[in-house]
Amino acid sequence: MITGKTKICGIFGYPIEHSLSPLMHNAAFKELGLDYVYVAVKVAPEDLAAAIKAIRALDLAGVNITFPHKEAVIPLLDDLSPEAKSIGAVNTIVHCGGRLIGDNTDGKGFIRSLAEDNKIKLKGKKVVLVGAGGAGRSIGVSLLKNNIQALYLHDIAEHKRNSLAVDLRSISPANKVKTIGQAELPQAIKEADILINATPIGMRSTDPSVVDPILLTKKLFIYDIIYNCETALLKAAKRKKIKCANGMGMLVNQGAISFELWTGKKAPIAVMRKALSA
Ligand code: NAP
Repeated sequence: MITGKTKICGIFGYPIEHSLSPLMHNAAFKELGLDYVYVAVKVAPEDLAAAIKAIRALDLAGVNITFPHKEAVIPLLDDLSPEAKSIGAVNTIVHCGGRLIGDNTDGKGFIRSLAEDNKIKLKGKKVVLVGAGGAGRSIGVSLLKNNIQALYLHDIAEHKRNSLAVDLRSISPANKVKTIGQAELPQAIKEADILINATPIGMRSTDPSVVDPILLTKKLFIYDIIYNCETALLKAAKRKKIKCANGMGMLVNQGAISFELWTGKKAPIAVMRKALSA
């Protein structure tokens, strides 16, 4: 029941109609009996500054920020978490007494999903990360904050992998991050413990596996962050009986961490996951 005391959270993006976040957050508020509501708000780029100002004016508890505002929002905020600073993008704003603090829960959600859903310990692991876009950047930062031994970074666009590597080397021992081209992928995958797909390859049913299935071995854990279909990479992993996960865990856990920042309560992960799969 929405009352005069109900606290409001939401998500700003453009477009936004497709967002699954209202489903999972409203289910979580209901489960814990919290007097909160979560709404999706279409905010065009030219309206972003006014929308951010409205968080204070309307006393919203907090919002998620999604495409295309994750970077543009930064100068409009009062402060950033260390993750948001390192990643250079914000997906969560917490409203604390008139101050707007930007955070980024994508990489942390990925790490929590690896640890809690898949029981993977990152310390000392060698990781191949394919895709140096927004998601790859968040994941790369969080991996390096979790004591991996080596990060092999591949992107089809050489300038993108090089540029992300420069930023990642500034937050970790520089020799932990190596950029690799197509020709070096087989050796890197052979050495790796974990392979991550952070590209959109696999979203269309006609897409091939992002790496040649012949390179996949039982030693690997494969995490494909695409969450709305089974990609050719995951199909190949399952055929070969290699441990693997899709992006649903990352999606739920990034939402759970935002939820916890706004409410101070432990998120009901199972309920949030169920709401997404309904
Ligand atoms: P993005 O910013 O477009 O980055 C994707 C990167 O992958 C680009 O640099 C792209 O290069 C590169 N790429 C494309 N094809 C490639 C290939 N065959 N080999 C190597 N690199 C390739 O996209 P994003 O926002 O990072 O999102 C990537 C995917 O992750 C999307 O499918 C998205 O739905 C998913 N995602 C999932 C979650 C979750 O919670 N599970 C969160 C965020 C994103 P070019 O630009 O040159 O094509």
